[in-house]
Amino acid sequence: MATKFLLQDSRYKTTTLKKHLIQHLIISGSSSIADIAKELQLSIPTVTKFVSELMNDNYILDLGKQNTPGGRKPNIYGLNPNAGYFVGVDVEVKKVLLATIDFCGNVIDEGYVVRYNLEDTEEAFDRLCEIVQDYIHQLEIDTSKVLQVGINLGGRVNPKTGFSYSFFHFDDKPLTEKIEKRIGIPVNLENDSRAMMYGEFLAGVVKNEKNILFININWGLGAGIIIDGKPYYGKSGFSGEVGHVCALDNEIICNCGKKGCLETEASGYAIERMSHERKAQGCTSILWDMMEEHGEFLLSDFVEAVLREDVLAIEIVEHIGFVLGRWVAGLINLLNPEMVILGGPLSATQDYLRLPVQSAIRKYSLNLVNQDTQLVVSKLGIRGGLIGACMLSRSRLLGMI
Ligand SMILES: [Zn+2]
Repeated sequence: MATKFLLQDSRYKTTTLKKHLIQHLIISGSSSIADIAKELQLSIPTVTKFVSELMNDNYILDLGKQNTPGGRKPNIYGLNPNAGYFVGVDVEVKKVLLATIDFCGNVIDEGYVVRYNLEDTEEAFDRLCEIVQDYIHQLEIDTSKVLQVGINLGGRVNPKTGFSYSFFHFDDKPLTEKIEKRIGIPVNLENDSRAMMYGEFLAGVVKNEKNILFININWGLGAGIIIDGKPYYGKSGFSGEVGHVCALDNEIICNCGKKGCLETEASGYAIERMSHERKAQGCTSILWDMMEEHGEFLLSDFVEAVLREDVLAIEIVEHIGFVLGRWVAGLINLLNPEMVILGGPLSATQDYLRLPVQSAIRKYSLNLVNQDTQLVVSKLGIRGGLIGACMLSRSRLLGMI
């Protein structure tokens, strides 16, 4: 069966070279045998043989003659979209979102959302496995061709070993192994901010930039880093914990148990706390009606209040933008990125958030360094994590990351 080759051990040289060939077609879209040979530095007969074998296994398709004016027209080859599928699972605090991409990276199913309570319990783990299984069963594709399931979780995650330390770390087995046992499909685990960043990198706001800093402003605050076109993980996959940098001299206890973390002043939790403080002071805002209507404080309500030009909500987003921007300025000095992306739910406030961040960057970073950096808002928005989970799953199976 076609799927076996990709799951085969990459120590076989032929397997590695075939994976490189598929990677090249992912990046280029389609290519001639001569172009593949040049890119992979292989001989024409070798590439012809690999192409023929990959066509027999249904991984790639002959797309016919290239339509170019004049000269010889070589045959071009591209990936077969139906060679395999990748499921993405974005686990959020109150819901799980699922989607599927085909082998070419096209989203073929999206919009499946299930209410869920993310808690560090056996019951929540069982429920998550059930949700993934139910989703795969209802897909209108040959589900035996689902090659991998990519799952995003918040907190400390080690994608290389498959361990999650913030959720479902009940014994000494990797979480990926436990889920694989339940659903019968290989699993790739990723930190939520890094998955969002990867979604933007392959299918969002990033064009050709290769050095990128992504900031996820959600209930918590996280970051993802791409260096020379590859996600940067650090030793154990814990890079990007910018929310827990000790940045402030305050007395607010953070979710991590320490105090003074950046997240205590620049995150959804901070917004909720500041809103309640302002309400207690007697300030007016359309937020209070929204909170009463929904019975709780929702980030989506806060974003709506900003976009409806609620003065209090704008003041709060300006404050967190400036606090955040001061630290982004430091990260720009450190990394010299080409692009900084503001992502996560609060990035939907667009320029209300971007402008104070930009202002703080101008004020606090080195002028020569920040001239290299574009500050942009995420294009995929709240879809970013889900698309990233699918894309990361494919990239990891193919050895691209
Ligand atoms: Zn903290």
